[in-house]
Amino acid sequence: MPPALWMKLWKADAVPQCCETAWRACLDILPVRSILHRRGVVGNPCCPRCSEVEETVHHALFSCPLVRMIWFASPLNLRFDEEGSVHDFFLSFLATADTNIAGIFLAVLYSVWQARNELLFKWKDSSIDQLLQRASSLRPSRVLLDDGPRAVQVLPSSWSRPLSGVCKMNIDASVTSSKEAGAGMVMRNNHGEVLAAATTELGPVLSPVLAEALGMRWALRLATKLGFRRIWIETDCLELYTFWNRQGGEFSHLATVVFDCRSLLPNFDVFNFTFVRRTSNGAADALARLAFHYGCMIWIEEAPSEITSITQDDVLASMAPS
Ligand SMILES: [Zn+2]
Repeated sequence: MPPALWMKLWKADAVPQCCETAWRACLDILPVRSILHRRGVVGNPCCPRCSEVEETVHHALFSCPLVRMIWFASPLNLRFDEEGSVHDFFLSFLATADTNIAGIFLAVLYSVWQARNELLFKWKDSSIDQLLQRASSLRPSRVLLDDGPRAVQVLPSSWSRPLSGVCKMNIDASVTSSKEAGAGMVMRNNHGEVLAAATTELGPVLSPVLAEALGMRWALRLATKLGFRRIWIETDCLELYTFWNRQGGEFSHLATVVFDCRSLLPNFDVFNFTFVRRTSNGAADALARLAFHYGCMIWIEEAPSEITSITQDDVLASMAPS
């Protein structure tokens, strides 16, 4: 390993065990299944997360489908679409990273490895948000990740495309002055193409956050019916997002609806739920307001003309360099 890279690893803003895991990954000596299989230690070389291919160091840390979602949801927004050499990737990435960026990178990397081991040895599965929160605690100066559920200032201000194979579902609800609620959802692929859009009236509600939760339940049921199995939901309702990530034990109408939503999760192979700025959720916001006009409507592979300009702008903004 070049001495400059070595120094980058040890100077990064992350606790020592992060650096050590990165160093072992770089030398290709992490005990992944393919290596253990070659040594005759385990019978099955396949990845314990996806069971689809041999678990190499690169696959375990970067290219497994679930791991790719973690990197993309991280503040670094990294995409790993291909297999490659861990060593070469480290060289190219860390060459331009400062101690802060390198620290985030190493903390996420270590958390990915830790979560893989917990899944394998303790049957414990963490959500992407839990994993990223844990990553933030591994950084002595905690610059980017450590502000509530996700630091709002690091959230992108425009819509971003999901990874290939995952559908992004933006949802939103709207409440009138007479407390009537409507909801909208739009499902798009990694090219920004609309796969489905829908509106519905939800009737009278007690609070805006309840309308958002009812909208989410409706959208999850609809996604299930339409056969979407790998979804990434985005809401701009911080209250719903925060409630979702809290531990249970509460009795309220909101808790019941959120419980219903959670009970639908086994319908999905990939599920991720994130909070975004309102500016990233414009299409769903417009649909929620259109619900009072259209009532219960579904568009397949198209969207109502009222939101076409928003979805086109979203695609353009998602292609601009960040
Ligand atoms: Zn895998």
